[in-house]
Order: sequence, then structure tokens, then C-alpha cells
Amino acid sequence: MKGQEESYKCSFCGRDKGDALILIAGLEGHICEVCVEQAHDMIKDELGGGKKKKTSVKGFHLPKNITPIQIKNFLDHYIIGQDDAKKYLSVAVYNHYKRLNQLVIDDIEVEKSNILFVGQTGTGKTLLAKTIAKFLDVPFAIVDATVFTEAGYVGEDVESMLSRLLQNCDYDVEAAEKGIVYIDEIDKIARKSDNPSITRDVSGEGVQQAMLKMLEGTEVNVPPQGGRKHPEQKMIKVNTKDILFICGGAFDKIEKHIARRMNTQVIGYNKGENERIHQDDLLEYINHSDLKSFGLIPELIGRLPVLTYLKPLDKETLIRIIQEPKNALLKQYAKLFELEGIKLKFEDDAILFIAEKALEYKLGARGLRSICEAILTDAMFEMPSQKGEVKDFVVDRDYVELKLSKSKLDKLKAA
Ligand code: ADP
Repeated sequence: MKGQEESYKCSFCGRDKGDALILIAGLEGHICEVCVEQAHDMIKDELGGGKKKKTSVKGFHLPKNITPIQIKNFLDHYIIGQDDAKKYLSVAVYNHYKRLNQLVIDDIEVEKSNILFVGQTGTGKTLLAKTIAKFLDVPFAIVDATVFTEAGYVGEDVESMLSRLLQNCDYDVEAAEKGIVYIDEIDKIARKSDNPSITRDVSGEGVQQAMLKMLEGTEVNVPPQGGRKHPEQKMIKVNTKDILFICGGAFDKIEKHIARRMNTQVIGYNKGENERIHQDDLLEYINHSDLKSFGLIPELIGRLPVLTYLKPLDKETLIRIIQEPKNALLKQYAKLFELEGIKLKFEDDAILFIAEKALEYKLGARGLRSICEAILTDAMFEMPSQKGEVKDFVVDRDYVELKLSKSKLDKLKAA
């Protein structure tokens, strides 16, 4: 049983009793007045708005009295670890939407705080962006920077990322103008060498240049279906000044640049004797000048003022990821089995083994899903036709080893 004190919290946003005006008790939890209000708005829009997307500028406001700590609490339900990234994101989003509500504060116009996440694949960059959009209930789009080329070349115009955003909110331009765009693989459009070259770099610097205005805020003519602009196509005008852009990339080997800079400037990063900072921890020290050495142009870096990193996931974190988040993998599988009347249980050493395999395959948390599928597919195939015969299904380490040895997943090891 939970302690009485501990349960006096909003079960939705995590606010303590002291921070809430009203905390309404339910059978197994509580809800604060802010969440009630938000839920009410959502229901009203969902039931009353027909096909129209819920979010509208007039109706859009940050949930009242919300603080960066509460935003982070919400993120904690879905994302394990990555505390620094969550903190930076919470503050940036808080400031961004404060700015929307009050454009000029005592004559000072607050600039927008686009964000850049640096971290290996599968560490939660996209998940963070997706979760924050869910929290704010604003339109959200994920785009891949590698599909863009500068105007005049085969590929997509950068404007097409806004088409995606528009599509995701049924072409409600007002809502899209307050939305969030996550641009993945931003590192792949880095300049290939540090020397600005006179020859054109179709997929690199040209695309970075094309993005500048959009990230800062401008009116863009957007082709409704994405792809290339055609002169005869009808365009939709979208103003990007209030759109929050979150960029993410693995920036493979950027640690080299960080180490080099730190060696000459700050703490004397000494490889070999007395290695003070482990390679994996170097990312914590990333700053904007490392991005420049990596090949992003200074103008683009300047438009992504909030820079933060995501740590590589270690075994302990992977173990937590598979079972703790609100929609954790094991919870999802347990639900699926429950629908068949079967109680699914993973033993601890089975979970440990799965985490070790995910580390080995170097796919971050993304590997966990493929591993679980490989383990459970046979059972999910057979059990529905044995209805009633099996009540409990316990997955132990031997079962995991057996299923994985028969799967094709082990081939990943060589990659
Ligand atoms: P990235 O964008 O960094 O390549 P993603 O955010 O797409 O990685 O993560 C891939 C999947 O792995 C997500 O859908 C999520 O289920 C899981 N995941 C990754 N990192 C975490 C984390 N820190 N906490 C919880 N789940 C995570």
C-alpha cells in the first residue's frame, strides 16, 4: 500500500497537493484543477468540433500555473533517464509558449528557443519531441533532414516539412502555426569538410541555408501535398515565427571535436594516463563551437540556441525502459496476453538478458522491441488457439535464449 502522503499528488501531471488549488480524489488517484480544465477542453473539442482539429490559436494557452518542473514530471512518465535533456526541453518549451501568450514583455521581444538534441540513435530524441507535443496538445510532425535538397535539385524543398505539419492537423493553418516540428538527422546535412567550398554542396550547406529563414520565422508558401513546389500549384501561406523546431542527430564522432577543444581549452582531457572523462560522458560538455567544427554553419547554429545531449543507454536504463514507462513494452505485451486470458510474466534474469542483447546489437532502446517480438511471436501465434488451456505464461532466461538463438536477430551482432 502506498503511503497516504505519497498519494496526495495529481496522478496526471504530478503536482503536489500544496501546488494545486483543488485536488479531487478518485478511487486510485487524484486530479488537479488544471488537468480537469485541460481534459474538459479536450472533450469539448473532440465531441463538438467534428472533423476540425482540436487545437486552435485562440484557445491555445499553456495550462494555467504550469511550471517547467511539472512539464518534466510529465516527461518522466514516458522517458527514462535523460534528465538534462528533459530539463532543457521543459524550460525551452515553457519559455516558448510563455512568449506566444505575451509576445512583448516590457518592450523586450523574447526570441524563440528552437532546440537541438545530440545523442546516439534510439536514445529517446524523437520520443521527447513527440511526448512534449502530446503534453501541449499541439500539431506535431516528424521529418527527416536527409530528404531535403536545395531548390532546383531532385528531392524535397525544406518547405515540405510544413506540409507534413498541415496534414497532421487537417490543414488548420492557425493550429499548425503553433505546432512543433521535429527534424531528425540534422547532422546528415552538415558540411562535409570544414572549408566552405565554392562548388555546390547539394545536400549539405545549401539545405542548411534554406532552413535558416524558416527556423527563425517567416511566411512560407507551402505546397499542400509536400514534395516540390510547382508554379501552377496552389500554395498555403504559413507563418513559422511561432512554430517550435526541435532538431535531433547522432553527430557521430563529435566527441573527437569536443575532446580536441577541451584539451586545448578547459580541463586538459588526457587520453591514456589518468583518463578523466570517459568517452561516453564527453557529450555532456558539447557546445555550439563543436557543432561548427562538425559542419553546421554558424547561422543555423545560432537559430538553435538550446543545445542539449542524450546519454547512451546503459544496461540499467534499458531494463527500466522495458518495464517502467506508461506504455512500456512489457506492459503492452501483458495487455495483449491478458486479452487472451493469460497472465504474462517476465522473470528478472530474462529481462536482464534482453537488455544485454539490446546493448550488443547497438540499437539503443529501439532494439528492445525486435527482441521481444522474436521472443514472443511463437507464443502469440499459438496461444489464441489454446484458449482456456494456459492461464499463466512465464518467460525465463532459458526461454529467451532459446527463442533468440532461433531468430535472425543474432545476425545483427556482426553489423
Ligand atoms: P532516437 O530519436 O533518439 O533515435 P527514439 O526516440 O525514436 O530514438 O527511440 C526509439 C524507441 O526507443 C522509442 O519509441 C522508445 O520506445 C524507446 N526509448 C528510447 N529511449 C528511451 C528512454 N530514454 N525512455 C523510454 N523509452 C525510450
